[in-house]
Amino acid sequence: MIAFDGSFAGFRDAARAALADHVPPERAHFDDANTAQRGLDLLAPEGRGRASTAGPQPTVPRGFVELGETVALHRDPRRWALLYRVLHRLTHGEPRLLSRATDPDIRTLARMGSAVRRDIHKLHAFVRFRKIEHEGRPLWVSFYEPDHRVLAAAVPHFVDRLGDDAFLIATPEGAAHWDGAQLSFSAGAPPELFAAAAADETEQGIEQLFRAYYASVFNPARANLRATLNEMPRRFWKRIPEAQELPSLLAQAALRTGEMLEVDVVAAQVPPDATLPLLEEAASRCTACPIHHAATQTVFGRGPLDARIVLVGEQPGDEEDRRGEPFVGPAGRLLRTLLAEAGLDPAHLYLTNAVKHFKWEPRGKRRLHMKPAYSEVRACRPWLEAELAQLSPDVVVCLGVTAAQSLLGPGFRLAQGKDRVFPQPWARALVTTYHPSAILRLEGQAATDARAQLVADLRRAKDLSALPPASAASPLDPPSLHAATPPCPP
Ligand code: URA
Repeated sequence: MIAFDGSFAGFRDAARAALADHVPPERAHFDDANTAQRGLDLLAPEGRGRASTAGPQPTVPRGFVELGETVALHRDPRRWALLYRVLHRLTHGEPRLLSRATDPDIRTLARMGSAVRRDIHKLHAFVRFRKIEHEGRPLWVSFYEPDHRVLAAAVPHFVDRLGDDAFLIATPEGAAHWDGAQLSFSAGAPPELFAAAAADETEQGIEQLFRAYYASVFNPARANLRATLNEMPRRFWKRIPEAQELPSLLAQAALRTGEMLEVDVVAAQVPPDATLPLLEEAASRCTACPIHHAATQTVFGRGPLDARIVLVGEQPGDEEDRRGEPFVGPAGRLLRTLLAEAGLDPAHLYLTNAVKHFKWEPRGKRRLHMKPAYSEVRACRPWLEAELAQLSPDVVVCLGVTAAQSLLGPGFRLAQGKDRVFPQPWARALVTTYHPSAILRLEGQAATDARAQLVADLRRAKDLSALPPASAASPLDPPSLHAATPPCPP
């Protein structure tokens, strides 16, 4: 274990020593755990490393040092091993490695660097100061939770702007304090400052005013939604008084102007090999597609880790969005009845959705379900795939066409799935069937038939899940059960 203080300077010294000792990347385990107690070194721009080894030092491109200083501020504990691996490769026959943008190590480093730079930018943009009296002087205080360890890198910006005015920026790990002449860092902020700021009724009054003012000047026809959403991800809104109004303002803007929200849709960034709780935590911050802006929260899947059957719906509904759990509204209640008819215990199933946010449009005081666009389904698919990879179930049941299209491609139609089992990578079998909401919308014989079909498909899933693992002679494999045509490309 190579111990150092968690700063890039400390890493650089430790890595040089490891290189001099010919430590291969797979045996270099960097331990910055001792920084957790000190706190301060996490924040201070330059830390202390192990003394440099004497003798000639390997030369590395300046770009590596610059990128390394940025990546060092990322929170991912694997960053040190990655930096050392790249350093080792740079000094062992790949001097131009940094210019190979498609190399997986370089791509990961670049992605981490961008995340850190973006975090610094967000801190600059979204810190809000309150003025309080402290020791007879005005002090501007702010509370902020950065994603990464960027406080020290971000704070000079405020020194430039606030000049003689004293300020304190407190984060959960520590605080930066500028007294008008000198900048210092401390692990945590003096509690009396927090108390004074929290008790400042006058400032809270100002926040209320700010909110009302922001709502009154918001012009939906001129709202630059792309900029608003790109610049102000949802999780920052809680820190910004005026932004509390944004979800309803943006939703109303879309309705009033009749425009769809035009924002970029990108694939969700899923942490590799993460467990379900970590996936859920990461998904709670997902802004890959525009739906998140009006939803209350991400609704992730629920169920036991050893569930053999996974049911995939379309997206959370109004009740699910408020409660943060899938299938707890009217469709979920019907689903539970049908599961009981099929002899399945919901406690043994994992319930999730193709899309993890509720897409809706305001209709008076109601929030009406809107079908997600395929681009949104595709953007969300990495979460579903990651859930399935963690669960490795026997059977995936796609309830409705959105779930089926998420896993089988946009060309899929429900009629194609009747009585068929689809081979695919996520489970031994995938079956498609009606969504319970469709049954709630149907009437008469059509409703009766669809309900019977859904129960039959659930029974089929139960039978398939009870089968031993697929083998050459497995009943999963008979040609009559398989899709006659290959599934549509995703
Ligand atoms: N409909 C769905 O598809 N999923 C839910 O979680 C609730 C309703």
